[in-house]
This record gives sequence, structure tokens and C-alpha cells, in this order.
Amino acid sequence: EVKKTQRGRYCFHCDEMSRKIQDAVALAGDLEKARERGELFLVFQPQINLIEDCLVGCEALLRWHHPERGMVSPGQFIPLAEERGLIYELGDWVLEQACKQARQWLDRGVGFRQIGVNVSSLQLLEPGFCQRVADLLHQYKLDPGYLELEITETVLMQDISLAERAMRSLNCMGICFSIDDFGTGYSSLRYLHRLPISRLKLAQEFVRDMVPDDEGVVVAATLQMSHKLNIPVIAEGIENLTHFQMLREQGCDQGQGYLFSKPVMVPEFEAFCRAAETQGVIQTLPESGSV
Ligand code: C2E
Ligand code: MG
Ligand code: MG
Ligand code: MG
Repeated sequence: EVKKTQRGRYCFHCDEMSRKIQDAVALAGDLEKARERGELFLVFQPQINLIEDCLVGCEALLRWHHPERGMVSPGQFIPLAEERGLIYELGDWVLEQACKQARQWLDRGVGFRQIGVNVSSLQLLEPGFCQRVADLLHQYKLDPGYLELEITETVLMQDISLAERAMRSLNCMGICFSIDDFGTGYSSLRYLHRLPISRLKLAQEFVRDMVPDDEGVVVAATLQMSHKLNIPVIAEGIENLTHFQMLREQGCDQGQGYLFSKPVMVPEFEAFCRAAETQGVIQTLPESGSV
């Protein structure tokens, strides 16, 4: 009897697993066609200088509107794209759209400063990547200072010598890097010091876990370290005024989060830029009287 039950259970897992795999295969198939079907687009989230109360740039984030499933989160489809080898084409599309958008903003005099693009490790380590970036900058007549590539610590850990080489060639033409989700991986301090890193993006987990009585020791330690290394920190996931105040008190230079703006589409982002230029960002926050 026991055997029967076990086998029954085993088969149940089997079914569930094969259903999950089938679903992933179906989703990957859809993702492959998503671009030509016009289901992909970018949204932009502003980044704020917390001390001077001005816009320092934005991050481009990919969105997929699936015809039946609705919005699929990048947390779901980016890993899938990496597994299925679709990330090269997808990442390339994102990079080109970001460059195109930057050019438009520069032409139209919108208060554009810099655009951050998330780059997968596979993409960074692909042999033609550096040349492709050079070509795009040339095509859209962009100064490299307008572009920042966001990579995660895992990239550095996977193959540090390859990653370092790719980063150095890109840095030779003026491209800088930020370390995304900083603190969730294991960056060696030695590498942080010697790689062309312009910003650390403090992972939102740390910001979320900050509570006034514990004063966010991890956040404080990260900020002290980064100041010693002379690398500015941008805090991710600032959702409320308490987060903002604690970060600013601890000397955090920059921030990004729902408190200021969610990632938004072009017209809304432009409106945000205009408002930021005339009235600042922090001054106009609801309940900012206490700031
Ligand atoms: P990420 O690069 O760390 O991006 C930050 C994520 O935090 C975004 O989620 C953003 O919408 C979200 N976020 C921003 N402010 C807040 C806040 O105040 N509270 C909370 N709870 N969340 C906030 P999103 O857009 O879902 O992207 C998730 C991840 O997917 C990104 O994390 C990035 O790793 C990846 N991703 C997104 N677009 C691309 C892309 O074009 N290429 C690659 N390779 N990865 C991408
Ligand atoms: Mg990012
Ligand atoms: Mg992040
Ligand atoms: Mg992330």
C-alpha cells in the first residue's frame, strides 16, 4: 500500500513539474515573439540627489505586456530569457531603446542627465558587447557619460577576470558601471576599489529593513565604506519619508524609490523632470513639511 501511495505522490510531483516546464517553454516561446509584436516597452524611474534635491538620472526598466497573461514581471521573464538564450537579443533591444530615448530627450531639452541600463552577465561577457555599445553611442551621437550600465555582484563573482576585462574596455570609451542590489552578493572590497565603478546601488532589502531604533547598521557601515572608497551610493526602494530621513542623516548621496516616483512611461517621466527642475522633488512631496 505504501508503495502505491509513494508512487502516486511521485507521479503527482511529476505532473506538476512537467506542467511548470511546459508553462515556461510556452512563456519563452511568447517572449521570443514579444518584441516584434510590440509587447515590450521601457519605463523610467527617476533618481534623486537627496542633498541638493535635484534629478541625477533615471533607470530604464523593461516591461512586457503579454496578450493573455497581462503584465509579466521582469523578475519572471529575465531569468527565463537568460536560461533560454533570449537575453542577448532582448538586452540589445533595451540598450538601443534607451539610447534612442536619451537622444530624444537631449534633442528636446528635457532635463535629462543620465540613463542606467540593466545588463545581464551573459550580455556583458558576450564578445561583441563592447563594440555594440560603441556603435550605439555613435549612431545616437551620445556622450558615454549619459549611459550607465548596471551590473550585479553575481556578475563579478562568476568570472571576475573576464568581467574585469569587459568593464575595462567599456570604461576606456567612457562608460561607467553601477553595482546593482549591492550588499546581497559578495563583492570583494579589493575589486570594488579597482574596477570602474561610479555608484553602488544599495539593495532595497536594506532600506526596507531599516527601523529607527536599530538605525540601520548595515546601511551605515555600507555608507562609511563607500565614502572611504570614494564611491557614491544610491539607495534603492525608498518608499517613505522615514527611509528618506534616515538615509539622508547617514549621508546617503542619492536615492530612488516609490516615494519619489514609480517607474513611469515617457510622458509622465517628462512631467516629473519639468516639475523637478522648477520646484525640486523633495520639497513637493506630500507631508514633506517635516523634512
Ligand atoms: P533592479 O534593477 O534592482 O530594479 C529595481 C526594481 O525595484 C524594479 O523592479 C523597480 O520597479 C523596483 N522598485 C523601485 N522602487 C521601488 C520601491 O520603492 N519599492 C519597491 N518595492 N520596489 C521598487 P522591476 O522593474 O520589477 O525589475 C526587477 C528586476 O528585473 C530589476 O531589478 C532587474 O534586475 C531586472 N530587469 C528589469 N529590466 C531589465 C532589463 O532591461 N535587463 C535586465 N537584464 N534586467 C532587467
Ligand atoms: Mg537595476
Ligand atoms: Mg536593484
Ligand atoms: Mg535586481
